[in-house]
Amino acid sequence: MSKLKISELFYSIQGEGRYMGVPSVFLRTFGCNFKCDGFGMPKGQLSVERFKVDAETIKEYKKLPLVSTGCDSYASWDPRFKHLSPVISVDSIVESICEILPNKKWVDEHLVITGGEPLLGWQRSYTDLLSHDLMKSLKELTFETNGTQMLEKELVTFLNQWKRNREKNSLTFSVSPKLTISGEDWNEAIKPKVIHQYQDVGFVYLKFVVASEEDLQDAERAVNEYHKNGFTGPVYLMPCGGVDSVYSLNNRTVAEMAMRKGWRYSDRLQVPLFKNEWGT
Ligand code: SF4
Repeated sequence: MSKLKISELFYSIQGEGRYMGVPSVFLRTFGCNFKCDGFGMPKGQLSVERFKVDAETIKEYKKLPLVSTGCDSYASWDPRFKHLSPVISVDSIVESICEILPNKKWVDEHLVITGGEPLLGWQRSYTDLLSHDLMKSLKELTFETNGTQMLEKELVTFLNQWKRNREKNSLTFSVSPKLTISGEDWNEAIKPKVIHQYQDVGFVYLKFVVASEEDLQDAERAVNEYHKNGFTGPVYLMPCGGVDSVYSLNNRTVAEMAMRKGWRYSDRLQVPLFKNEWGT
C-alpha cells in the first residue's frame, strides 16, 4: 500500500474557485517546486517572513504563525518544517477522511488534493487512494496545482477510467499559474503544454492571484499564451492576501478588474470567514 507525506488533512468549506462554498475535505501534500516569496512584496523584493518562524519550537501545524507576505502555506514545502508532515499510508488517510466527514462517508462533499504542489511526487499514490473501497462514493475531485507538472501516464489512464466508471464523477484541475508577482521565473511558471494535457483529462480553469494593473497585464499575457496552445476554460482573478489586512485592501479592486475583462472573480472565503487559520 502506498504512502503520502501529508501536511494537513481537514474538513472545511472551499473558499476559492469553482467550488466556492462547497463542503470539502482538503488533503495537503508536502513539497513544492516553487517558493513564491514575492507575494505581497514591493516589486523585485522577496519575503523573509517565513525565516523568522523558529521551526525547532513548533510541534504542530496549528501553532504555526500566519504570514502576510510570501506563500501562505509555506510549511507545506519549506524543508525546515518537514517534521510537521508525517508519511502516512493510504489506508490511514482514508480512515482519517471518514472520521472527519460529517456522515462518516462521502455524501455531497468534494475532495481537494492540494499542496504545496500535489502533482510533484505523489501521483502514483492517488490511484491507490481513489480506488480504495471507502472512496467509491466520492463524486467530485479537484487537484489544486500550479500547472507545471505533467501527469504520469498511469494517473491519466486511471483518472479517465475513474470518470468513465461513474458517469457523475467530476474531475477538475484548479490551476494557479504563478505570475511575476510571485517572484518566480516566467518560463518556469507558465507551461501551456502542461495545461493542455490536463484539459484532455478533466475540466480546467486558470486562477491568477493579482493585486495591481501590472499583475493584470501579466495575467493577460499568460492567458494569451495558454489560448495559443488550445486552452478553452474559464479564467478567474483572485485577490492577493492570505491575511485580512492585505486581502481586504484589494478584493474589490480585483473584482472590478475581473468584471472589466469578462473573467470570473474568485474570493478567498477562508480569509474573511476563518482568518485563513491553518486547517481552514
Ligand atoms: S506554488 Fe503554491 S504552494 Fe508552491 S510556493 Fe507557490 S503559492 Fe506556495
